Amino acid sequence: MAEDYKRVWTACLDVIKDTLGPENRKAYDTWFLPIVPIQLDGNTLIVQVPSPFFYEWLEEHYVDLLKRVIRMQLGPGAMLKYSIVMDQTIPSEPLRTTLPSSHNRRTTENPLADLPVNINKDNVREIPNPFVIPGMQKQRIPSQLSPNYTLENFVEGDCNRLARSAGYAVAERPGTTSFNPLLLHSNVGLGKTHLANAIGMKTKELNPDKKVLYVTSEQFMQQYAEAGRAGTTNDFIHFYELIDVLIVDDIQFWAGKAQKTQEAFFHIFNHLHQRNCQIIITSDKAPSDLQGLEPRLLSRLKWGLNADLQAPDVDTRKAILRQKLQNDGIDMADDIIEYIAYNINTNVRELEGALISLIAQSSLNRKQITLDLTKQMIDKYIQSSTREITIEYIQKVVCDSLNLPVDSIQQTSRKREIVQARQLSMYFAKKITKSSLAAIGMQCGNKDHATVLHACKTIENLRQTDRHIRSLVDELEKKLAE
Ligand code: ADP
Ligand code: MG
Repeated sequence: MAEDYKRVWTACLDVIKDTLGPENRKAYDTWFLPIVPIQLDGNTLIVQVPSPFFYEWLEEHYVDLLKRVIRMQLGPGAMLKYSIVMDQTIPSEPLRTTLPSSHNRRTTENPLADLPVNINKDNVREIPNPFVIPGMQKQRIPSQLSPNYTLENFVEGDCNRLARSAGYAVAERPGTTSFNPLLLHSNVGLGKTHLANAIGMKTKELNPDKKVLYVTSEQFMQQYAEAGRAGTTNDFIHFYELIDVLIVDDIQFWAGKAQKTQEAFFHIFNHLHQRNCQIIITSDKAPSDLQGLEPRLLSRLKWGLNADLQAPDVDTRKAILRQKLQNDGIDMADDIIEYIAYNINTNVRELEGALISLIAQSSLNRKQITLDLTKQMIDKYIQSSTREITIEYIQKVVCDSLNLPVDSIQQTSRKREIVQARQLSMYFAKKITKSSLAAIGMQCGNKDHATVLHACKTIENLRQTDRHIRSLVDELEKKLAE
């Protein structure tokens, strides 16, 4: 009967479900429901599994159970063959394998005896076995978390309430809330790194057996590049696939570059997500402004919760200052705290910076911290720290050095030097300011973000290939830094 394979597999599933019992319901849902029966060939049942990893996991953990149920249904000589859906995104190896590709593997015999396996004849590819590193499952992986950044010392305010409580929920039940991935985004200095780290710390406290790992996107990219050079890309990927809670800080760093890294991460992301592992990501741009990130990765980032951190209001700023002072065991009069909190309103990093400068000043000069001293100090601090380079300023510096009137940037002219002035302005605006590509485009002749991106690439390329442009860019860079 044509539908026999389905009937056989359904009967197998019933036994498996029964054997695993309700306490293992999750394992049943994760590892058995996704299996699709595709053919019955004599006493051999062929099933399709979603990935090589999936297959290996089954072999490692459930081979006896599978052997038993298959034989119950199809007799003592029964066999199971797998057809594995290959993910096209596995980085570094060109994969020409079509989906699904089947291979003949006798799993009902000695399950791990003849790994690695060839998937098909034309494109011999090893299935990397994540369990080859002995003891890896039990090995403790240093989390790279900083004990200084905790949820306890992350001051709550309206600006961060949603992100903070989502973070707490994630730490309590990593991977099983709908906040997966949890994406934290904000402008710089508003607490993303602190909060992401704090969630990791709390997760470890509440779930000591979970493997938590914090990495910056830059570290991840470097490790991936090194693994590529050393020929250990598979180990790299398998290492990350063993993590239960993965925190990647500052993912915007990959935008417009690191395509291979993004592919590798995409693959790891899918794998972890499928296994209900928690992924926490931070970015200094909202997903809608993360141009240059792989679209399919971007779409994954939108699956879970997207929480932003706003600049704190004055009461939260005061609370943060008090908390830092208490931490350092320093007493400070309320009017001084208020003065700082009212006057530094950009971000928490600046707030901390001002406080540290004030404390340093007073102890170096052996002066008491008075309101007067605070005023002098803070006013100076504001002047030096808020000098921000604006897009208009960049346009002025660029046009001056090219002997063009500033407003030529706004003209629709396609004259070569005007186009170049526009492109240079866009390039530096992207490099120096925090403005989004869309905002830069709008201020540079009402162009769209794609034009800005193109301009940045053009200048970058010319810089590599054209001596004249290189020295112009260097000179402008110096002027802008003055
Ligand atoms: P980001 O990663 O967003 O640039 P950070 O996490 O590095 O920002 O935060 C900058 C500084 O401000 C850190 O020292 C951090 O401890 C502090 N900070 C930010 N938000 C808070 C908060 N809500 N409570 C206490 N400290 C905070
Ligand atoms: Mg940060």
